[in-house]
Amino acid sequence: RPVLHARGVAKRFSNGTLAVTGVDLDLRAGEFVSLLGPSGCGKSTLLRLIAGLGEASAGRIDWPTTDHDSHGRPMRDVGFVFQEATLMPWATAQRNVMLPLILKRVPAKEAAARADAALEAVGLGSFLQAYPRELSGGMKMRVSIARALVTRPRLLLMDEPFAALDEITRQKLNDDLLALWARQRFTVLFVTHSVFESVYLSQRIVVMAARPGRVIADVATDAPFPRD
Ligand code: ADP
Ligand code: ADP
Repeated sequence: RPVLHARGVAKRFSNGTLAVTGVDLDLRAGEFVSLLGPSGCGKSTLLRLIAGLGEASAGRIDWPTTDHDSHGRPMRDVGFVFQEATLMPWATAQRNVMLPLILKRVPAKEAAARADAALEAVGLGSFLQAYPRELSGGMKMRVSIARALVTRPRLLLMDEPFAALDEITRQKLNDDLLALWARQRFTVLFVTHSVFESVYLSQRIVVMAARPGRVIADVATDAPFPRD
């Protein structure tokens, strides 16, 4: 099932920078796709456009099988994981993960149960009541992933999520993310400038180049999960 259908997407910022141009991209349900390219090639810009944070200057982004709101706009329904975990420091892990559900008016009791399950799924079942300051960088990132997935979004967008972590923590998170994906089969678009990470993680790699930012290759890798 198609999740996202983008054609001719471009973004020119008000200062004249053409950050991305002519981007065609299709995502299917359950795919783990990497968006690979050097710094400044427009990966974040494209991700933000897909998330609806900013308007494209040209082209269109369609969500073929998505519900529409009362104004006929597609309900984008994405989870977003940034490089920084961006947690509320005054709230427990559980409260942080409940927030997107509370914003969707899910009753508190159900929201707490779903937050606990999401934290369980990322390996933080014993840290439900911990505050961000009590958690390591990797654990904060796990909370952030739980928060992004707790609403069961149609698409999980990850913008160089592990880039600020040390290599060992990062590799552990990569492995755990893959295992979680194999179990739950959400759709992922994972931004990275690491060739290794893109090959290790994804079934498909979309390669971008800079000046102007554009897609130069879209390849299926030979490494579907599970591997030995
Ligand atoms: P838009 O064209 O969508 O209105 P703006 O040009 O107003 O966007 O910029 C939006 C924000 O991005 C501003 O806060 C600006 O400071 C910031 N910004 C500007 N230039 C850059 C850049 N080269 N890289 C990252 N962020 C930038
Ligand atoms: P990447 O994520 O691949 O590193 P970005 O999408 O952040 O690339 O940036 C793509 C290009 O657009 C860069 O040249 C960057 O400086 C520029 N850029 C990003 N955001 C803004 C902005 N708000 N205003 C002006 N230029 C921007």
